Amino acid sequence: MSDPSFLYRFGPKLADGEATMKALLGGKGASLAEMSRIGLPVPPGFTIPASVCQTVNDAEGRWPDGLASAIREGLAFVESTTGKRLGDPSAPLLLSVRSGAAQSMPGMMDTVLNLGLNEEVAEGLATIHKDTHFAYDAYRRFIDMFGHVVMGVPRDAFQEALSEMKAERGVQQTFDLTAGDLRLLVDCYKAIYRQHTGFMFPEDPQDQLRFAINAVFASWMTERAIKYRRINKIRGLLGTAVNVQAMVFGNRMRQSGTGVCFTRNPATGAHTLYGEFLLHAQGEDVVAGIRTPQSIQTLAESLPEVHAQLVEASQILERHYRNMQDIEFTVEEGQLYILQTRNGKRTGPAALKIAVDMVAEGLVTPEEAVRDLVEPRHLEQLLHPRFANTEGYAGPVLAQGLPASPGAAVGQAVFTSEDAEQWRSEGKRVILVRVETSPDDVGGMHAAQGILTSRGGMTSHAAVVARGWGTPCVAGCDAIIINQKTRSFTNGHVTIHEGDWISVNGSTGEIIQGRERLVDAGPSGDYADFMEWVQAAQTMKVRANADTPEDAQQAREFGARGIGLCRTEHMFFAEGRLPVVRRMILAETEAARRQALADLLPLQRSDFEAILKAMAGYPVTIRLLDPPLHEFLPSSEVSMDGLADALGLPVSTVSAKVEALRESNPMLGHRGCRLGITRPGLTAMQARAIAEAALNCLDEGIEVHPEIMIPLASTRAEIVHQRQIIENTLEAVYAERGTRLDLRIGTMIETPRAALVAGDIAQVVDFFSFGTNDLTQMTFGFSRDDTTAFLPHYVNQQILPDDPFQAIDVEGVGALVRHATEQGRAAQASLTVGLCGEHGGDPDSVSFCHGVGLDYVSCSAFRVPIARLAAAQAALRAAAVENLETA
Ligand code: PEP
Ligand code: MG
Repeated sequence: MSDPSFLYRFGPKLADGEATMKALLGGKGASLAEMSRIGLPVPPGFTIPASVCQTVNDAEGRWPDGLASAIREGLAFVESTTGKRLGDPSAPLLLSVRSGAAQSMPGMMDTVLNLGLNEEVAEGLATIHKDTHFAYDAYRRFIDMFGHVVMGVPRDAFQEALSEMKAERGVQQTFDLTAGDLRLLVDCYKAIYRQHTGFMFPEDPQDQLRFAINAVFASWMTERAIKYRRINKIRGLLGTAVNVQAMVFGNRMRQSGTGVCFTRNPATGAHTLYGEFLLHAQGEDVVAGIRTPQSIQTLAESLPEVHAQLVEASQILERHYRNMQDIEFTVEEGQLYILQTRNGKRTGPAALKIAVDMVAEGLVTPEEAVRDLVEPRHLEQLLHPRFANTEGYAGPVLAQGLPASPGAAVGQAVFTSEDAEQWRSEGKRVILVRVETSPDDVGGMHAAQGILTSRGGMTSHAAVVARGWGTPCVAGCDAIIINQKTRSFTNGHVTIHEGDWISVNGSTGEIIQGRERLVDAGPSGDYADFMEWVQAAQTMKVRANADTPEDAQQAREFGARGIGLCRTEHMFFAEGRLPVVRRMILAETEAARRQALADLLPLQRSDFEAILKAMAGYPVTIRLLDPPLHEFLPSSEVSMDGLADALGLPVSTVSAKVEALRESNPMLGHRGCRLGITRPGLTAMQARAIAEAALNCLDEGIEVHPEIMIPLASTRAEIVHQRQIIENTLEAVYAERGTRLDLRIGTMIETPRAALVAGDIAQVVDFFSFGTNDLTQMTFGFSRDDTTAFLPHYVNQQILPDDPFQAIDVEGVGALVRHATEQGRAAQASLTVGLCGEHGGDPDSVSFCHGVGLDYVSCSAFRVPIARLAAAQAALRAAAVENLETA
């Protein structure tokens, strides 16, 4: 075996590495090694592991001791296997030098093909194959690739020379140039190379190899590769490996070609070989799109034996990798070679079909199907409408904001909630465009197909509400300026007026001008089977954040096992409630306040009754009122007048009250349990409404499990205070009704102090629910609604890896969650611990919660299937690691 720190060989009957060494060998290297091991036809070669990448880059291309001799050894292996030699004109070996990291970064790093050619070798190649055209076409391509990749010569320089030659000769295809033309082109390319680099083109194949290996290593650190890793959150890799492999030629005249194929259709999942093939071509021709490839079925007609071999190889690969494969292959004079295989990318519907089919075919177990074959984003595609065109958009992208609520929506721009409702009632489809939304906007938001805001983060009002309904939303799009007066917005170049059509992509954050075509969402028949396997694998439960019976019903259909957060304030905005709420807030006397609360009681009771019924059999966590009171009050003079009229109070009294309730920093002000402490009647009213609703359900024989949750506490004493009011109220209701309830009382953990003293708090509650929206806000000191100005910069400059309101900040907020869970459970073993911030619907955050050992996560209804899959995958992956450790 060659030195494993520097080199892993692969080829017929030999493989130093294996698939499990992907971190070191990269995806391509590991698959070449593995395909060699299982006897598939792979041209011989060797992989220099990714661990060498940084060493070489740090030393600016100088090789560490031992690397040169390892490469000599690797080369000797390739030479003896092929019977050819690098630089030998009588038996020329040509090499490909390719990058390959542990995670796929398509097109981001560099490749050099046909390495080893010089004047003598090209002549030798022409003589041996009796094909000068082939030899000089390969030489021309090599100078082009080497010049560009290794020395940075602009590609256009070579392209121009080629185009000129074709124009002079009056031909369309390079293929139609004569061998003599190609010889002239080689001279011309060399001159271009010299002109741009100041050097002669290297004639020594050993030099060529050294330069090419270093160029591939260096391509790991190009700006575009770094950017790609950042966007795709590819972290913690060693670098790229380098694969040096004997070339095989699809551009020979007889029975040769090259292609790519998927073992199943990646768009539909249908079980047929799917792909493209080009006769007389090298791989780059397929990728470059210069000639139009034919479907893989044409291979069955032109080269039936090769087609049969390819079908067999694809079956072997699927069985081996237990996943749909994306295969690159080349046919040289009737001999098939597999150059690469990897798990194929696929659409959501295809992912589900492939998973369910592969289980039925006995290729994978249901657990493997759940763990490896469907990604959370695949389910997302199924649950939301998406754009029909997957290749791009018909219209221009105007701007990009935060992908706040996934899915695609198309509609006419409207700028007020009233218009959204009005236009909708006229049968129009609208996109509601607002600087930010407030609870006042919910009617318009509900009427809209999609929502666009220019301010606010992933937990802004617009984002939270839209996710709850599954309405596509782009939030915090500060690249547009909205002019409320003229009812228009602009990105600086294009202005969109009221009534203009726009399309929003809530999965990417893009805003597109015009009317894109949509495809409807809808889980396929495979969905139900698949979700049953998900259910079986899940250990951590998933509940939903829902405030209405409709949302609760939806969540239940998506498989939620209860409600983890019912935000009662949302009910206060329902039809007819606001005037009573306002009376309660502005009451001049204790009696007036009591009366307002008494008026609210039956409304709340019926809300709770409906929601408890919709979630019968499962827990429903109802949170006491949380937001600052002024959110319920009017802000404009006109509405102030109306309110004064309704209350029979002078306008001056009303506006003075409203002014008195205004706060500089309402998110950290008079909200949460602070409200319940200053207005104990409110807590008592809500507790009574919950208890009476639950007892009414029990009377009807409906099994209900209500839970009361105290928001935004920081101290044990706050909770003791609120708990006392709740318990006194409950006892009064039980006495009146002659029945008791099993009603649990818990608290949100959403201030850092509460997390730190969780052991103390756990002694006075039955459950914790982490409110990671506020916990993130307060741990970072980032206002939830004011992040657009700086957070994108933080993420772009990698000051933060992600938006912490989207993916939980494991090191900081996550540490508080872990600490509080451990302390809470140590103080009270039976404590239930859940999480109900927006992170409950983010797959990575769900996986984190599983790791901490939470009992459940709670997220908006449309995220429930995604969270369930993420929870099941976290459980299966943890079990797989455990099995490895005990094996
Ligand atoms: C939270 O803070 O995480 C939470 C769920 O509460 P809200 O978003 O309503 O403040
Ligand atoms: Mg909160």
